[in-house]
Amino acid sequence: MMRLPDFEYRAARTVGEAAVWLAEDPARAMLLGGGTDVLPNMKRRQQTPTTLIGLRGIRELATFANGDGLTLGAGVTLSQVVADQRVHDAYAGLWQAAAQVATPHLRNMGTIGGNLCLDTRCTYYDQNYEWRKAIDFCMKKDGRTCWVATSSPRCLAVSSTDTAPMFQALGASVTLVSASGSRVLPLIDLYANDGMQYLTKRRDEIVSSVTVPRLPGWRSTFWKLRRRGAFDFPVAAAAIAARLDGSSVTDVRIVLGAVASRPMQASRAEALITGAELTDETIEAAADAAGDVAKPMDNTDFELVWRKKMVRRLVSYALRDVRGDDMRALRQKIARQLL
Ligand SMILES: Cc1cc2nc3c(=O)[nH]c(=O)nc-3n(C[C@H](O)[C@H](O)[C@H](O)COP(=O)(O)OP(=O)(O)OC[C@H]3O[C@@H](n4cnc5c(N)ncnc54)[C@H](O)[C@@H]3O)c2cc1C
Ligand code: SF4
Repeated sequence: MMRLPDFEYRAARTVGEAAVWLAEDPARAMLLGGGTDVLPNMKRRQQTPTTLIGLRGIRELATFANGDGLTLGAGVTLSQVVADQRVHDAYAGLWQAAAQVATPHLRNMGTIGGNLCLDTRCTYYDQNYEWRKAIDFCMKKDGRTCWVATSSPRCLAVSSTDTAPMFQALGASVTLVSASGSRVLPLIDLYANDGMQYLTKRRDEIVSSVTVPRLPGWRSTFWKLRRRGAFDFPVAAAAIAARLDGSSVTDVRIVLGAVASRPMQASRAEALITGAELTDETIEAAADAAGDVAKPMDNTDFELVWRKKMVRRLVSYALRDVRGDDMRALRQKIARQLL
């Protein structure tokens, strides 16, 4: 049995209190949302904070607000997102992304803040201490070499959050709070394509909320590939939000998940269909262009050439979904790996 190492636990009552505690030692303290990522990582000694600052008791983080759009506190759980009719009706893609994270138990604990800040994943890193020690560790923790690409100067661990690509496609922004103040950042700027420094925020900053703008006339959808439909991290995903005038696309955002160390915007694919009719031909052209953005490495489940092919398929299915095709049977097939 893997045991947690010793650590100090401090239960914050306000965001301000958590921010002051975090500022005391940002290099060695970590925030605890639901703990569904950070606690297993601590058991495997991938993350070794000396202090955990608990956010669960902070009421202001557990709020939904409907203003000019939708603001979710970072402490809102994924189950609460899935249970919310407004999310289901106005932001279908976000609802689908949240509903496909892990299992019901993990969604009951897992928070939006934790999902947005989820650690990147890799076959050589998500292992217990002894396993990692046997390969002399790797660059992301305790070692020097990247075993995925030994000449790589940076870690290539994979962004594995389901909601981040969808929030990015929806044009969301996050509010960051620290002891020295707060700031709002477009969510697209929260991420960097680096498996170790995958967040651009400072270590003393807390994600307090995420806001999705009101998007009248937009449709959104999320398509995810994973081994087990009942519970697994994504190995590829397509998050698409689009505004249509009839069958013409007037605006679109296509974001790929789990193919790099951050959610990847497929800008060329977006440009190809903006102003165009969503025909089978334009959809396939956009899917091919999106597939070019995906550079999966051999460090997650499934064979990488197949995963790259599947990115094209996911984008194609997602665009057909946005067009209004009946995609229920294909969704079932993807969930059951019957492709
Ligand atoms: C078996 C299994 C399957 C899983 N499958 C999926 C999956 O399919 N898709 C998926 O997306 N995830 C998956 N997860 C990961 C995880 O359960 C979810 O991502 C969950 O949403 C994480 O939220 P949390 O609150 O538990 O995060 P925590 O573990 O509490 O925190 C995760 C990270 O975020 C930081 N953090 C937490 N809150 C904040 C905040 N407010 N501001 C700044 N930083 C913060 C923490 O310090 C930590 O670095 C899975 C986990 C397991 C164990
Ligand atoms: S990509 Fe390389 S450095 Fe990063 S976790 Fe994997 S093996 Fe380690």
